[in-house]
Amino acid sequence: MSVRVRFAPSPTGMLHVGALRDALFKSLFARHHHGVLILRIEDTDRTRYSPESEAEFISTLKWVGIEFDEGPHIGGPNAPYRQSERKEAGVYQPWIEKLMSLGHAYKAFDTPQELEEMREIQTINKQSTGYYGGVWRDATAEQVAAAEAEGKPYVIRQRIPRDITISIHDAVRGRVEWDSNTIDDPVLIKADGMPTYHFASMVDDHLMDITHIIRGEEWLSSAPKHAALFDAFGWNRPVFVHCPLIVGLDGKKLSKRHGATRVLDYAAQGFMAGPLKNFIALIGWSPGDDREAMSEQELVDAFDISGVQPSPGKFDFEKLKWLNGLAIRAMEPFALLDEITDYLRTPYTLDYFNQLVSDDPKVDPKKIEKALLDLDRAIEKDKPYALEVIKLEQQRVQTLADFGEACAFFFAELPEMDPKAVEKWFGQAHVGQLFDTLIAGCGTTFIDGSDPVDYENALKEFQVTHQIEKLGPIVHPTRVALTGKPTGPGLFELMAVLGPARIKARLLRAKEMLK
Ligand code: GLU
Repeated sequence: MSVRVRFAPSPTGMLHVGALRDALFKSLFARHHHGVLILRIEDTDRTRYSPESEAEFISTLKWVGIEFDEGPHIGGPNAPYRQSERKEAGVYQPWIEKLMSLGHAYKAFDTPQELEEMREIQTINKQSTGYYGGVWRDATAEQVAAAEAEGKPYVIRQRIPRDITISIHDAVRGRVEWDSNTIDDPVLIKADGMPTYHFASMVDDHLMDITHIIRGEEWLSSAPKHAALFDAFGWNRPVFVHCPLIVGLDGKKLSKRHGATRVLDYAAQGFMAGPLKNFIALIGWSPGDDREAMSEQELVDAFDISGVQPSPGKFDFEKLKWLNGLAIRAMEPFALLDEITDYLRTPYTLDYFNQLVSDDPKVDPKKIEKALLDLDRAIEKDKPYALEVIKLEQQRVQTLADFGEACAFFFAELPEMDPKAVEKWFGQAHVGQLFDTLIAGCGTTFIDGSDPVDYENALKEFQVTHQIEKLGPIVHPTRVALTGKPTGPGLFELMAVLGPARIKARLLRAKEMLK
C-alpha cells in the first residue's frame, strides 16, 4: 500500500516550530515515497479551536512550501477534513456503538465531584491519577439502564484490557511496552457527544487509510491506548513513528526562553522558507552523512525514518542564521531583490518589529523597522541602484532583515556618523588633503565612476605622493567619511556603487567635520 500520512493539528493558537517540524517530517516522508499527505483539523475541543489559527497554520505551511494532497482547504476523497464536521456527518457514531457492542467501551456516569474525589484518594495513596475502573467499568446492564433512565449525563470510556502487556513497534524506538494496568480508561465520547482526540483521531486514521502515525514524542504515552483501540476493532495498526523532542542548546525543552517559537516570527526576522525548512529538517533527523546545507529535492531524496533519531534534537539558532546566509549568497541578485521586496511588503514584517520588545541592548527594533521602511522606499525610487547595493551586502548579511541597516548608509542623503570612528580616523594630518584630492577627482578622475579599480588607483596614488607607509590610514578615513562606519563591504567596490556625486557630497560633509 502506498504511504499515507496526516498532519492533524488542533489549531488553538500560533503555529510553533514543533508543529512545523512535525508537518515537515510528514511532508518529506510522503514526498520521498510518492505518497499522500493529508491535513486533518482536530477541532473537537470547540472551546479552544480557533479558525484564525487554522488559517495561520495553512498559510504559514504554504509559505514554507508544505503542500497537502487532501485537506479542508482543498477537499479530497475523505472529506470533510474537520472533525467537528465529521461528527455532524455522523462519522463516529457507528464506530462507538460497535466498540461498545464488542465490550471495549462503556458508559460512565461519574459526576465531576466523584471524579475529583477519586483523584484525591489516588493522590493520598500515591497512586497514579486516572480512571482505572471506578463503578462503571464493571457495572451491570441494570445499573446502566437505571442511570440512563434517570437522565444522568455520561461519557463513553475505552475499556483498556487489564493484566496484559501492550506493546508497539515504534519505527524510531523499536519495541516499547506497557503494563496495561498502568493505562487508564480514556474518555472517547464526551458528555456533549463530541468525540475526544483519542477516539476521533484513531477512527479517522483508520478511515483515511493512514499507514504511518508520525508525531511528537509527547504522544508516546498515548500510543498504548491507540494501539489497544486498533486491536479492539480488529483493524491493522499503522506504523507508529514518535519523533524526538526539540530542545534548546541548554538541553531544555524549546520555549520562548530560547527565542521565537512562532514560525511567522522567523519569517518576520528575515529567514527564508528554504533554509528554514532545511534547518528544521535537521532537528532530530540526519541524512546519514555530514551534509547540512541541503536543497528541497535533496531533503526529499534523503529523508527516511531510519534517519530519525530517538534522542532530542537541538535547536541551534546560529546554524539557522548560517544556513540562511548561505542561501542569500547563493541567490541570483534579481531574485534576491524580489525576495527582499516581498519580505518588506508582507505586513507582518513591520508589525513584528513595531511590537518587538528587545532585551538585547544591541538590538533596537524601532531602528530596524525604520531601516526596512527606508529600504523599501529606496527600492521603489531607484531599483538599479538598490540592486547594486544589495549585490554588495549580499555577501555579508545573514537575514533579509539585516539588509535594512546594512544598506542604510547607501540610501541616506548623508550617512549617520559613528562618533568613535570619526574620532579614531579623522585626526591625522593628511586626511584633509586626502578628502580634497578625492573631491577633486569626482567628475575628473572618476568620470564614469563605476569601476572599483579607478578608486583603488586614486587612493594608492595618494599614498605614493604623500609617502604614507600603509594604505590603512587612507582607506579607513575614506570609509568613515563615505559610510559613517568603520566596517562594511570592500571600500573600492562600495565607492563604485555610490558613484562620484554621492562620494563628493559625503566628502564635503566629512571635510566640515575636520574643522
Ligand atoms: N491533534 C493532535 C495535536 O494537536 C495530533 C496528535 C497526533 O498526531 O496524533 O498534536
